[in-house]
Amino acid sequence: MAEEKEKKGFFARLKAGLAKTRDNIVESFTDVFGASHIDDDFYENLEETFIMADMGYETTEKVIEGLKQKVEDSHIKEPAACKELVINIIKNQMSVDDSAYDFENKKSVVLVIGVNGVGKTTTIGKLAAQYRQRGKKVLMAAAIDQLKTWADRAQVDIISHNEGADPAAVVYDAVAAAKARDTDILLVDTAGRLHNKKNLMDELAKMRRIITRDYPEANVEALIVLDGTTGQNALEQARQFSNVTELDGIVITKLDGTAKGGIAIAIQAELDVPVKFIGVGEKIGDLQRFDPQEYVNALFADFDEDRSEIDMLIGDDM
Ligand code: GDP
Repeated sequence: MAEEKEKKGFFARLKAGLAKTRDNIVESFTDVFGASHIDDDFYENLEETFIMADMGYETTEKVIEGLKQKVEDSHIKEPAACKELVINIIKNQMSVDDSAYDFENKKSVVLVIGVNGVGKTTTIGKLAAQYRQRGKKVLMAAAIDQLKTWADRAQVDIISHNEGADPAAVVYDAVAAAKARDTDILLVDTAGRLHNKKNLMDELAKMRRIITRDYPEANVEALIVLDGTTGQNALEQARQFSNVTELDGIVITKLDGTAKGGIAIAIQAELDVPVKFIGVGEKIGDLQRFDPQEYVNALFADFDEDRSEIDMLIGDDM
């Protein structure tokens, strides 16, 4: 019951957070799908709506191609009939395999990757607290003190070195501690210095080598954290990191209050790496598993009776 309520609260916050994107989209959608014919203009206007929502060129093209195919196959004549089709095409593209979360039930080392300021520390703190609440033995590791506040809040142990310490040394100590304490999940803040590609690649490879060598029984899960408010920049960061290291999943933070919500769709489609978690605020409960159905509904669904709740959550400042 409490869980149900919490989920509803998260969804309402997600909708509120995405309201900026949605306000744009819903208005354009009404125009686009209100057209009288399915013609080049119709497709162009639809394309423009997606680009405006930061869905990215490639993804937009894919969705439009998918729609054209459906329209042809099903002999659809009415623009209005395309709306559901578009929404379903996007949902299908975003679907996340259940095995995406298998690492949570194994002995795992979660490497949290991303540039400074995107929300790595916060994400680790939220995950740690949630895993602990689920009865898991959690350990955090970082080369910064910042994570200590979260360790206290989440009531989990932390292995930390001074700021600027060699991240590989942090991993080395953390792995030893995780083994000694029979930890279920070790969350590692990788410090995120995107100084240069070669250094970053070497650093991440070194961390992985230490884990494979010293803790072969552990499963390694590399999550990249991206700031949802940065739109196409987030996509670019994800591309750069995916060029230097294998990524298992994406976390998109700060989806509360951005007009760039379409970026989640673009990133997943273009990198073929699933979005596994999204953040819609700074509290522990504000990070959840990504639910493509809910997300796409929150982005594209018409305003409904929840609108008053959303207005309340948005307040006057949006
Ligand atoms: P790091 O440098 O990557 O470790 O980033 P931090 O975890 O320190 O986060 C940077 C800022 O983003 C902090 O002020 C966080 O409170 C904030 N932040 C992180 N996730 C979210 C989120 O989902 N929503 C909002 N509004 N703020 C967030």
